Amino acid sequence: MRKLNKNKDKIIGLFGENIGSSLSPDIHNYLANVMGDKYHYFLFDLKANNLKKAVDSIKILNIRGVNVTIPYKKEVIKYLDKVDEKVDKIGAVNTIINEEGILIGKNTDVDGFDEMVYNKGINFADKKVVLIGAGGAARAVIYYLTEQSPKEVNIVNRTLRRTEVLKEVFNDDIENLNIAELGSENSNEKIEEADIIINATPLGMANRFADKSPVKAEQINEKQTLIDLVYNPRITKFLQIGKKKKARIVSGIEMLIFQAVKSFEIWTNSLVEYHVVKELINNL
Ligand code: NAP
Repeated sequence: MRKLNKNKDKIIGLFGENIGSSLSPDIHNYLANVMGDKYHYFLFDLKANNLKKAVDSIKILNIRGVNVTIPYKKEVIKYLDKVDEKVDKIGAVNTIINEEGILIGKNTDVDGFDEMVYNKGINFADKKVVLIGAGGAARAVIYYLTEQSPKEVNIVNRTLRRTEVLKEVFNDDIENLNIAELGSENSNEKIEEADIIINATPLGMANRFADKSPVKAEQINEKQTLIDLVYNPRITKFLQIGKKKKARIVSGIEMLIFQAVKSFEIWTNSLVEYHVVKELINNL
């Protein structure tokens, strides 16, 4: 067994709840192995009342950094020393770096989404976009869209109030930003007319919502592109519907890999070459 080298080995990991089946350890430990870095990724499954203590322990134990996932991406912000400009706007952190005792919050979900759609050659300019969901992941997507000149962006969510908050935050950054309640006549129309539909809810996720989709088959046609942020299973109910209707479908697995790569680069101050990422995409 390889022994930890006290001077060189560094701890990284994931803060979240019910994260036992996370793919992040596989991705990060693979990257550390290929890059020859002595970083070791651990899962820290936390109860909410331990979040502050866990964040304090990053400094105490000299942990290099952690990813943060559901349900702590927002709540964790108040325990950090600083956040970057993206986090200010998005209001969610998925990566913390410990810079000599200063904890800085970042968001690499934006980079993950950006790299995934770039890699797939998906262009949002002049497109009608429907984004389903208004949580942390949806906010990362909207932040990305602020630079893409879409024709219109329609945020559709189960709870209308959350879309209203997003409209307030991003209204000046996106020209035609509209909101609608999931299942309403207005949202159904927007889904039918959309060029690109993005699912940023957990609907379709294995175990919890496997048989659920945020859209119905009759709303989908072959000209549309369906992007699911859910990555387990790779082909969700939403994407199954898209496939049957001959729409273009994109699974969130590449976003997961690209956001992880970006976090790894932040912690290790290195650049992961594209062929390494590609190997991950092909083998995960
Ligand atoms: P979040 O902040 O908890 O937001 C969840 C969103 O989903 C909210 O808009 C919520 O609506 C909606 N929602 C939850 N349950 C629903 C249901 N039963 N019916 C309809 N809407 C429902 O979570 P998040 O961080 O944004 O993550 C959302 C999904 O994206 C998760 O599945 C996560 O795994 C995935 N994700 C993937 C990646 C990747 O790298 N591929 C990265 C980030 C997230 P309300 O406002 O009404 O509660």
